[in-house]
Amino acid sequence: MSQVNALSSSRIAVLGYGSQGRAHALNLAESGLDVVVGVRKDGPSWQRAQADGLKVAEPAAAVRDADLVAVLTPDMVQPALYREAIEPNLKPGAVLLFAHGFNVHFKQISPRSDIDVVLVAPKGPGALVRSEYERGRGVPCLYAVHQDASGHAEQRARAYADGIGGGRALLIKTDFREETETDLFGEQAVLCGGASELVTKGFETLVEAGYQPEIAYYEVMHELKLIVDLFYEGGLARMLQFVSETAQYGDYVSGPRVVDAGVKARMKEVLRDIQDGTFARNWTAEYAAGLPNYQRLKQADLDHPIEQVGQKLRARMAWLQPEKSGAGSVSLKKAG
Ligand code: NAD
Ligand code: MG
Repeated sequence: MSQVNALSSSRIAVLGYGSQGRAHALNLAESGLDVVVGVRKDGPSWQRAQADGLKVAEPAAAVRDADLVAVLTPDMVQPALYREAIEPNLKPGAVLLFAHGFNVHFKQISPRSDIDVVLVAPKGPGALVRSEYERGRGVPCLYAVHQDASGHAEQRARAYADGIGGGRALLIKTDFREETETDLFGEQAVLCGGASELVTKGFETLVEAGYQPEIAYYEVMHELKLIVDLFYEGGLARMLQFVSETAQYGDYVSGPRVVDAGVKARMKEVLRDIQDGTFARNWTAEYAAGLPNYQRLKQADLDHPIEQVGQKLRARMAWLQPEKSGAGSVSLKKAG
């Protein structure tokens, strides 16, 4: 049942107009809620939000009139935004809402004690949150309460999730710790980190054994999409249903040799670094230092031979050309 009424007389400020910000602001407005987008006046988002028919204000001004402030800028800029634009302007008793728990859980932001602090995290990129809403459906959302000053924090979080369409699909209750730690683990061990290392190590193995890089690219990078699509649509069962018996047998006997107990033990180490704050400490220090290691490691990925051969091959696959801009790419919390 829709609880959007818990916010019906509230002004909602959406700070940031990127992947999530645009989808949330448009969906909330179309759900009949009073929305203002808070963005910098000289930035490109200002014009985009205005062209989309939304009220627009500078972040501090948007916060001043708001009963709920959704913080949808990149995670690493949120602490300064909170200090400078949000904390000094936020009404007593207002709601502060995040789409990822990182800054609150790792204490990069310590919210004022008189406000509600909640989380609503759609399990999908902003483009999907928007397109599903337009079709009368929604993307499942996690929601959580960190601080309940009003006694209505959970109801208000659920109302926001309903307003962006999540209630039409599924709302799953969590807490900031669980959302943050599982999100970081997934992107590090399996999605971004794990998958990219598996692919590049597989590519290197074939090329070092004398096989053509073009063929290695198809086998370990390109065809991964077919498998992942099957996982997405129907889990392991659907993948097993669509691959040959030979592929299945190879999966059963060789998969566990590659991703063995040692890999799982190191996954647990990665999780421990997330849980005890080591990762967050390293990452915030790296960001503060101007990203020297991040840039170097990123360049190494971009310089990997799989990238040269990939560029050449993708240019010959006509169906890949319209999405050159990355319009179909999923942003993973810039990592999630
Ligand atoms: P994004 O990078 O797509 O957009 C960020 C927006 O913030 C842009 O409009 C940018 O112009 C604006 N911005 C940047 N710096 C700013 C500043 N200093 N002051 C004001 N505005 C500024 O970000 P996103 O992917 O939408 O992520 C927003 C939040 O949503 C993050 O907390 C992220 O973890 C979370 N989240 C993202 C996804 C996803 O799939 N992208 C899913 C769930 C949760
Ligand atoms: Mg990598």
